[in-house]
Amino acid sequence: MPRSLSVLTVPAFKDNYLWLIHDGVHAAVVDPGDGGPILEALRANGLLLTAILLTHHHADHIGGVPDLLAHRQVPVFGPRNDGIAAVTEPLGEGDRITVPGLDLELSVLDVPGHTRGHIAYVRRDGQDGDGTHWLFCGDTLFGAGCGRLFEGTPAQMADSLAKLARLPDDTLVYCAHEYTLSNLRFADAVEPANQALQLRLRADSEKRGTNLPTIPSTIGIEKATNPFLRACEPAILDSLKAAGKLAPGADRVAAFAALREWKNVF
Ligand SMILES: [Zn+2]
Repeated sequence: MPRSLSVLTVPAFKDNYLWLIHDGVHAAVVDPGDGGPILEALRANGLLLTAILLTHHHADHIGGVPDLLAHRQVPVFGPRNDGIAAVTEPLGEGDRITVPGLDLELSVLDVPGHTRGHIAYVRRDGQDGDGTHWLFCGDTLFGAGCGRLFEGTPAQMADSLAKLARLPDDTLVYCAHEYTLSNLRFADAVEPANQALQLRLRADSEKRGTNLPTIPSTIGIEKATNPFLRACEPAILDSLKAAGKLAPGADRVAAFAALREWKNVF
């Protein structure tokens, strides 16, 4: 019988999370911005690195790759179109991979917006509700927020987020930063009457008060509380209009773009 899998949270830099997927023996790392904390976690848990998975080209997601490859030569999975020289297994929408060393199949989604070639990894096997639906989404979807648009258009990012929102509600969302509380403060400003949002604000404030991660969240929680998945909710449209940030008759992409720009200066 295959060994069961778990995901280790490895904090790095100021607010990054690096994810180590392992079965107690073998491990694959997602977005190793820094090699040091990963090598330390591998040693501390007696794990053998078998693969590197990358979502996009930013340094705080790939900076540790040379150190890890010096430690052990493993395949490097990553986006086909994001200009990462270290990638040995280029991936794009619809690809499926079996992660070396692990009983783990992941499918790949193109989620452009934050960068042009950003991809996400989805574990879809297992039954609903058994905790085996996972999403590794880099800097696309965050706890109660979304990534900045460095290379893509608002339409691309809105479509990417809509694609993630179609995953099962119980999908665990492993994003790459602890930005949740700051995102929730913005969400509270644009949709203060949202009860699910108020509950989340309380729960996640308590977690951060004792230095616990708020990540992973779930797609269900994000759909209920993340303004960037709710840009067309009447209450949010009203807030945008009241703040003078949305012209009458604007479409869903315009609403998303206005929300994203508002957050940039919030
Ligand atoms: Zn990034």
